[in-house]
Amino acid sequence: MTGSDYPHPSSFILHPFSGGKRYAALGPALRALFGGRTRRIPLDAGFTCPTRDGSLGTLGCLYCDEEGARPGYVKPELPVREQLAQGIARSLEGDPKTTRFIAYFQAYTSTYLGPEFLVKTGEPTDPTDPTDPTDPAGPTGPTCPTCPTCPTCPTGPMDLRAIYEEGLSDPRVVAMAIGTRPDCLPEPVLDVLSEFGRRTFLWVEIGLQSIRNATLAAVGRGHTVEQFIAASQRLKASGIRFCAHVIFGLPGDSRDDMLAAADLLNRLRAWGVKMHNLYIDKHSPLAEPYLRGEIPILSREEYLDLAVDFLARLSPEILIHRLVGETHPNRLLAPAWSADKTSFLNALDRTMTERGLFQGCAIQSPTESKTRNSI
Ligand code: SF4
Repeated sequence: MTGSDYPHPSSFILHPFSGGKRYAALGPALRALFGGRTRRIPLDAGFTCPTRDGSLGTLGCLYCDEEGARPGYVKPELPVREQLAQGIARSLEGDPKTTRFIAYFQAYTSTYLGPEFLVKTGEPTDPTDPTDPTDPAGPTGPTCPTCPTCPTCPTGPMDLRAIYEEGLSDPRVVAMAIGTRPDCLPEPVLDVLSEFGRRTFLWVEIGLQSIRNATLAAVGRGHTVEQFIAASQRLKASGIRFCAHVIFGLPGDSRDDMLAAADLLNRLRAWGVKMHNLYIDKHSPLAEPYLRGEIPILSREEYLDLAVDFLARLSPEILIHRLVGETHPNRLLAPAWSADKTSFLNALDRTMTERGLFQGCAIQSPTESKTRNSI
């Protein structure tokens, strides 16, 4: 089986959703797809971000910690192959029954080859249609400044093929996930991703974070919503699944803005969504303004209410990769409630049951949902 032979995992999801959930949780879908429990092995291949290297900024996105979302136990000084081996061994110590792993290029921007490879455009050709993001740069995106026709591109400072190859160096790896930004997916990179998508079950995570460009600018993202839309369509045109990253509670975003992200992801036919509340990492640039009282944080009740309404508006075909912020408790400045992920997820399940909600119920009837999700 190659990556492109796999059916969409949501085809394994029956209504009501697997695992006793009222939403399409990623874990049960992958378990059904691969015939057993899978675990992600976080990897840091030595990338940076355009918001850190001076191309678009030096501080990083203001909510991001200085380690670019890398878990503390990952050792970036080791080759990817060794990180993978250590990560699998570590995972087996905690859970010996897991025999299938996902190579997860999580840290920083794991497709970023340098400023000359940034995709700077993404304006919709029809400004009234936010899902028509034809890139003025053309379907091929930017050309490589040094050798635009070279068949072995990318030729940047990072050899993407070699890096991702190491992610597949253990036969127990059944899938690969790559975290990146909408402006770091030029055509040469998409070509490499497509190759790996034909060899393994691949998905790419791209940050949307907010549907307001003013918010994106305020938190130093350095890209626009239009660039996100364009990137998601380039990925889909290349046959690559994408999972969108959305943050609720960014300063300036209203409740309606946050919920409208579901409508956009539905229209773009996202494969997955990773959503979480804004939390303050002690090592992020937001820590100081938070301590000065300048950054409001959602209460548990506010976020819970948003999360269930978001799920109700989200297509049941979109897999839920994450529902609450995750950081090491020693690094969490606020909110304290998000340290207890299990309690939050239980409360979310209870709330959806009490209110009679399930994913997508605000946009389709239970009958439609059953029809679309049954095997
Ligand atoms: S959020 Fe992503 S793009 Fe922004 S600084 Fe962190 S790792 Fe880099």
